[in-house]
Amino acid sequence: MDIHFLGATRQVTGSRYAIASDGAIVLVDCGMFQERALLERNWEPFPIPPAEIRTVLLTHAHLDHCGFIPRFVRSGFAGRILATPATIELARIVLLDAASIQEEDAAYKKKRHAKEGRIGPHPEVPLYTVEDARASFERFEPVDYLEPVRVNASLAARFFDAGHILGSSMITLDLREKGLRRSLLFSGDIGQWAKPIVRDPSVFAAADYVVMETTYADRDHEDPGPIEDLLSGVLSEAALRGGNVLIPVFALERAQEILFYIGRLVRDGRIRRVPVFLDSPMAIEASEVFVRYPGLLDPEAQSFLTGSESKPFDFPGLRFTRTVEESKSINSYKGPCVILAGSGMCNAGRIKHHLVHNIGRPECTVLFVGYQAAGTLGRQILEGKTPVRIHGQALDVKARIVQIHGFSGHAGRSGLLRWLDAFEKPPRSLFLTHGEAEGALKLAEELRGKGWAVEVPEYLESFALS
Ligand SMILES: [Zn+2]
Repeated sequence: MDIHFLGATRQVTGSRYAIASDGAIVLVDCGMFQERALLERNWEPFPIPPAEIRTVLLTHAHLDHCGFIPRFVRSGFAGRILATPATIELARIVLLDAASIQEEDAAYKKKRHAKEGRIGPHPEVPLYTVEDARASFERFEPVDYLEPVRVNASLAARFFDAGHILGSSMITLDLREKGLRRSLLFSGDIGQWAKPIVRDPSVFAAADYVVMETTYADRDHEDPGPIEDLLSGVLSEAALRGGNVLIPVFALERAQEILFYIGRLVRDGRIRRVPVFLDSPMAIEASEVFVRYPGLLDPEAQSFLTGSESKPFDFPGLRFTRTVEESKSINSYKGPCVILAGSGMCNAGRIKHHLVHNIGRPECTVLFVGYQAAGTLGRQILEGKTPVRIHGQALDVKARIVQIHGFSGHAGRSGLLRWLDAFEKPPRSLFLTHGEAEGALKLAEELRGKGWAVEVPEYLESFALS
């Protein structure tokens, strides 16, 4: 038996690991590469012909873990994709959105290249279409947490809550080949402890081999302080100034987290009641999935379900705006309001329209609650650039710009160490993936110093699981 690292090797996207045992190949995750320099890998033939792989085990619904699935199915994969029911529902939302973005991008590039009189490289066609995405959904099969599943004659799997996003999983594999029996554990993305909405990550006492993510191998999250107090401060001050508050959010998890906090502040009477618009059809759909799985929520969020008739993200003043017309009508609303819209880094989506209307108004506030990557509009605004270009216009930034830290869905360095601490003895080998080379290599050195056998695999590297 052996394991092949087909992505998330010394970088953070394109999670996909192939495990071969007794002649059968299983894939854990089928992620899309998202780093600009690695996008090309999405277009290369899959390192193992998809038709030869019988099963995909999916840890969660983020694109860097599931985003390659439609292309993979179109390239000949005809087996089962096993995931928790919540992951399946969220993956459908995420993949349909990704497919339509790719269709739009391809159409836009085609138009631009035609105008410039040149022939562009392949991305004039989408990596996959909405139709491809829909076709891939037929491959999904639900598996509940803790339920042992027989994957094939030599391999059984079990899913455990990873505490990262709704439905997210860590997966254990029980492998048998010619009298040899080995356990293999995939951490998926490890969540943070004591976060609202999702439960705490599962921990394990033993495994022969462990594949662990290392997104934050070398740093802890900045201590946010009491998030609810900070949020209440920002919203109250904005209400006094009489301006709108724009919050760029990711549709999955972050949007729900912010709604959860605002809802609690409203119910507790800690902030003035103003309309709160969730202006993202995808975030609205994702929120509905959360409501369908109350059993997966942490006790704090569950208390909202049983404590009143309300839903965990529902509170007086909350309005969902799905259509473009509804979204536009927010701008004619008189009086202060709070607007949550995507994208989370302001590089696309409805938030850009709201920024055009509000960023030049000193009474307004732009509140950042997520990481802003270099080169994004969000990062420019956060760093104080003015004017900024949005939709072809140069706009002076006069709104108040604030940031609240601490919203990451990933365990920081201390969380990763806490997860490893649960092992009663080190595994035969620990493979560090899903993290920048520098941090992963540093953590590997540190753990080797404590007697652990650690590998930081390179792209397409394989290891025997002896
Ligand atoms: Zn993730």
